[in-house]
Amino acid sequence: MKNLVVGAGFSGATIANLLATELNEEVEVIDSKDHIAGNCYDYKDENGITIHKYGSHIFHTNNEKVWDFISKFTDFNTYMHKVYANIDGIETTIPFNINTLYDVFPKSLASRLEEKLLAKYEYNKKVPILEFTKETDKDLKFLADYVYEKVFLHYTTKQWGVSPNDVSGAVTARVPVYISKDNRYFQDKYQGIPLEGYTKVVERMLDHKNIELVLNKPFKDYKKAYQKYKRVFYTGAIDQYFNYELGKLPYRSVNFKFETHKQEYYQQNSVVNYPCNYDFTRIHEYKYYLNEKSDKTVIAKEYSEAFETDKNERYYPIPNDKNTELYNKYLEKAKDLDNVYFLGRLGDYKYYDMDKAIARAIELFEEIK
Ligand SMILES: Cc1cc2nc3c(=O)[nH]c(=O)nc-3n(C[C@H](O)[C@H](O)[C@H](O)COP(=O)(O)OP(=O)(O)OC[C@H]3O[C@@H](n4cnc5c(N)ncnc54)[C@H](O)[C@@H]3O)c2cc1C
Repeated sequence: MKNLVVGAGFSGATIANLLATELNEEVEVIDSKDHIAGNCYDYKDENGITIHKYGSHIFHTNNEKVWDFISKFTDFNTYMHKVYANIDGIETTIPFNINTLYDVFPKSLASRLEEKLLAKYEYNKKVPILEFTKETDKDLKFLADYVYEKVFLHYTTKQWGVSPNDVSGAVTARVPVYISKDNRYFQDKYQGIPLEGYTKVVERMLDHKNIELVLNKPFKDYKKAYQKYKRVFYTGAIDQYFNYELGKLPYRSVNFKFETHKQEYYQQNSVVNYPCNYDFTRIHEYKYYLNEKSDKTVIAKEYSEAFETDKNERYYPIPNDKNTELYNKYLEKAKDLDNVYFLGRLGDYKYYDMDKAIARAIELFEEIK
């Protein structure tokens, strides 16, 4: 009896690889898409530029086990991600930090704010914006209101389609004021882009004599016959597995509008956010990631939108009490199934960075082996 893995993203590929290599078991991996790597799928276009089809992906982790695992399949470049933001025409870096102060304010005001921040907060602390707006000092309150309005409010509304008051604290905590001069977006020990792209990494993970890969194959084609498998690892949406019988778990989706420009670079950085102008949230420019040379460049403008079944992709689970309650009900139902395991960002209804998705699959493997 072999294993069935539904989904050839990082979660599915990790568990399939471990079953095949460490337990020497046979694994059939299916995916409804015509490609592997799930949301992390990338490809080289006709200009030799590696495009991340579902949005920019930067690998970053502090988890040694995950780093050792993924490093078996690829080398990484030394790339430290920075995000620029265009705030009323001024280009600066975010999260908002001490350097940002000097980009957006006159020097005298910036240095007064810096002094007050350093007197009050520990260096390198990230203060979530909603906590920061409770400041009572007049200058710091001015700063908090500025960051709330210019960086947080409109961006959050565009991204989630609702007022920030209706967005969970878990999401809003991700927008901090960073008491630091560190302009990097991530502070993890390991970060970079796989030298041959993410698709190649997943291809190598699945390249094993015990693994059979079937693309363009939705799980519904297998549902009746799944008992013939020793175990099923399901990385698709848990509500879809149960035919939405308790209701649909909501997601935000994203629409990327790609443009090719006949110029070397379109913008100064791989990602520029537009927190207070335009309808798109950010612009990605892909050639920066692997420092690819071409006289053309490809960008994507990112528009957030609601997820609708069969119309667009599930991107971000929407964490709130109501959705968690519905997810927990599905989880209860899942306990009645024999040898069916849910994992991944869709199976667990959780936003996972790539390293967390891999870590979760490794943990599950260790539990079942
Ligand atoms: C816009 C965006 C940007 C991101 N950027 C980063 C980043 O910079 N760094 C980072 O670490 N992480 C990033 N992530 C997170 C990253 O995409 C996830 O960690 C990763 O995709 C999780 O892999 P997964 O295998 O769990 O899910 P997926 O990649 O979604 O894989 C699931 C697979 O299952 C298949 N599937 C689903 N249902 C079925 C079915 N019924 N039958 C058959 N196949 C099915 C799907 O087609 C898909 O291929 C980002 C996510 C988003 C949305």
